[in-house]
Amino acid sequence: MRPEILFPLFAPVTSLKGVGPRVAPMLERLAGPIVRDVLFLKPHSIVRRTPATLASARDGEVMTFEVVIEQHQKPRVSSQPWRIRVSDPTGFMTLVFFGRFADQLETRHPAGARRLISGKVGDDKFGRQMVHPDYMVDPDKAEEIPELEPIYPATEGLPARRVRTFVLEALERAPMLPEWQDAAWKAREHFPAWREALERLHAPESEADLSPLSAHARRLAYDELLAHQLAMAMRKAERRREPAAKIAASEVAEKVRGDLPFRFTGAQDRALADIRADFADGERMSRLIQGDVGSGKTVVAMCAMADVAAGGGQSALMAPTEILARQHFDTIAGPLLAHGIGVVLLTGRDKGKPRAEKLAGLASGETQVAVGTHALFQDDVAFHRLQLAVIDEQHRFGVAERQRLQAKGEAVHLVAMSATPIPRTLELTVYGDLDVSRIDEKPPGRTPVATRAVPMGRIAEVEARLRSVVAEGAQAFWICPLVSESEVSDLAAAERRAADLTERIGPGVGLVHGKMPAAAKDAVMAEFAEGRLSVLVATTVVEVGVNVPNATIMVIEQAERFGLAQLHQLRGRVGRGRQESACVLLYDPPLSETAQKRLDILRRTDDGFVIAEKDLELRGGGDALGLRQSGFPDYVFADPFLHRELIAAAGDDARLILARDPELKSERGQALNVLSELFDWKAGMALKDAG
Ligand code: ADP
Ligand code: MG
Repeated sequence: MRPEILFPLFAPVTSLKGVGPRVAPMLERLAGPIVRDVLFLKPHSIVRRTPATLASARDGEVMTFEVVIEQHQKPRVSSQPWRIRVSDPTGFMTLVFFGRFADQLETRHPAGARRLISGKVGDDKFGRQMVHPDYMVDPDKAEEIPELEPIYPATEGLPARRVRTFVLEALERAPMLPEWQDAAWKAREHFPAWREALERLHAPESEADLSPLSAHARRLAYDELLAHQLAMAMRKAERRREPAAKIAASEVAEKVRGDLPFRFTGAQDRALADIRADFADGERMSRLIQGDVGSGKTVVAMCAMADVAAGGGQSALMAPTEILARQHFDTIAGPLLAHGIGVVLLTGRDKGKPRAEKLAGLASGETQVAVGTHALFQDDVAFHRLQLAVIDEQHRFGVAERQRLQAKGEAVHLVAMSATPIPRTLELTVYGDLDVSRIDEKPPGRTPVATRAVPMGRIAEVEARLRSVVAEGAQAFWICPLVSESEVSDLAAAERRAADLTERIGPGVGLVHGKMPAAAKDAVMAEFAEGRLSVLVATTVVEVGVNVPNATIMVIEQAERFGLAQLHQLRGRVGRGRQESACVLLYDPPLSETAQKRLDILRRTDDGFVIAEKDLELRGGGDALGLRQSGFPDYVFADPFLHRELIAAAGDDARLILARDPELKSERGQALNVLSELFDWKAGMALKDAG
C-alpha cells in the first residue's frame, strides 16, 4: 500500500497550477502522468555567465554575447519576422522575432545600443542567427541574466520556461520524507537530505552543482539504484522461500559428459557446479548463464537436464526460433539418448498424429526432455513432472512466456542463457534478481577471427575476394547497414546489396530481414545452414546463436554505426569451425575517434567480457540507447558509467537490509518502503528487459 506521505507526489499532473486539459497531455508526454514525474524531470543546466565572441558561436548551443545593435530590418509582409542585425568586433549575427509586438523592438533596442543577448544559436542558409533570444539586456544590468540556468525538455506548445514553473511547483509539493539512507554512509558521502538534493538539482548554485558527481546528484542516483536493488533483492528472497525439489548430481550426467569428444573448460565446470549447488539446496533456482556465442552453455544445460532425468523429473529447453531449437536438439539428443534419456523436438511445425505422440510421451513422463520453441508453452502441452526450464536467448522471451512454461510444473527451476556479455559492474542492475554464472573461457582449439577494417571505397576488392573464396566452397554473412530509422529503406538497401552480390558472385545469395515472417526467415536461414546458399545478406536480424560451422566470412557494412557489443556478436557467428575465418568491417571514412577506437578494440580482442567493459568506457555512459538494448534500465538519475561504484554499494546495502530486516519493519525499513514506492520499480522488469 502506498504511504500517505506520498499522495501529493502521486497526484495527476493536472493537480499542478496551470496544467489544464490543453497542457496536461503535453506535460504527460514530457514527464509522465503524475507530479512525481514532473519533479523527476532532470534539467540539463547551462552556464550563461561569461559572454562569448560571435566568432565562437556554435550552432545549437545556448550562448551569451555582448553586441551592438546595428540595424532593424522591418518585415515587408506581416508574415515575415522582424530581424535585427547585431555585431561584435569578431562578427555579425541576426536576431529574429515573430509576432505582433515586434515593432516595439526598435524603441527598446535602438541602433547603436549595446546589449547582452543570450539564447540558442542557429546557423543555417540564412547565416548565423538567434530566434527570440531568452535575454536581451543592457550590459549594466547583466545580473538579470542568471549565472546558471536549468533547462528542461520542451515540446511544441510547451516551452522549457513553462515546464520549469511546473517543476518548481512540484518541488513545493514535495514532502520531507523520512531518511532511508544509512546514517553513517550518508555522512561519509556528504549526502544532503532527499528534498534538499532535489532543490539543488532544480536550482544549482555553482558550476560544481552541475556535475553528476556532486553530492546531491550522487544522492539521487544512489536512491534510485537502492530502490531498484531492493526491489530485485526482495523478489529474489521471495523466490528463495519457495521450496523446490532437490535434485542430486547424477552418475548418468557424468557419463553423458564423459562421452563428449571434448573436456569441459574450467568455466563450464564452474557453471555446472553452480547449478548443482542450487539444485541441492531445496530452493527454487533462477540462474543466468552468461557467455559468448559458442562458449559452451548448451552442453552445461544438457548435463543439468541429465541430472533432472536421473532423479525422475523432466526438463524443457526453449529457444526463440525453430532453427535454434533444431540445433539444440541436434546437440543434445544423441548424448542423452545414448544413456536412455528420451528427448523430443517440439516446434510449430509439429501437427496431427506425430505431435500427439510427442505430447503423450511428455504427459506420461516417458520422454524426459523437450526441446522447442514457443510451441512448448501452448495450453495442450502437459508434463508429467517438469522440474527444470532452460531458456536460451532469454531476452527474446517475455516474462509471461517464461512463466507459462514454468507453470507447467511445480516450483520449476530456471536456467536462463544469454550470449550478451554484460560488464561486471552492470551485472547487478541488469540481472540483480538472478544468480549469474559467467562462462568466460572459450573451448580450446578455436582459431581467432582475423578482423580488418576496410574503407567503403574498397568494396570492390572485398567482393572480388569473396567471389574467389565462395568458389572454393566457403560461406559468408553480409550484414547490411542501418541506413535510416525506417525499416523500409533499410530493406531497400539490403535488397540492393543482395542483387549486387548476385550479379558479382552468382546465384546462391540469400536475403533475410526483420520484416519477413518468422517461417520464411527460418527457411532461408536453414538453406544457408545446410550449405545451399553461399552468401547470406541480412539486416541485423541474424540469429545470435545460429551455428553454421562452414561460414567463415563476416562482412559488416557501415561498421562504424554499430556498437561494440553488437559487432562482437555479429563476428561471433564465424570462426566456429576449424577453418581460418575473417571479419571485414566496412566503414565510411572519415572515422570519428570513438569509432576508430571501437574498431581497434575489436581487432585486438575477441573476449566478450573485455569488449563489454571497453564498450562501457567508450560510451562513458552517454549512449543510453545502446545500453538499454543490452538490458540496462532506464534510470532517471543514475548513470551506468559515472555512478558505477554506487551500483555495487547499493547492491550490498540492499542485501544487508533484507538480511537484518526482511519485512522492512524497523524505522529505516519503513523509510525504505517509502523509497520503494517512490520509485515504484515494476516487478519482473529485469528479466523481461535483460539481454
Ligand atoms: P553456446 O550455447 O554457448 O553458444 P554450445 O554449447 O552450443 O555453445 O557450444 C558450441 C560448440 O562448441 C558446440 O559444437 C559444442 O559441442 C562445442 N563445445 C562446447 N564445449 C566445448 C569444450 N569444452 N571443448 C570443445 N568444444 C566444446
Ligand atoms: Mg547458444
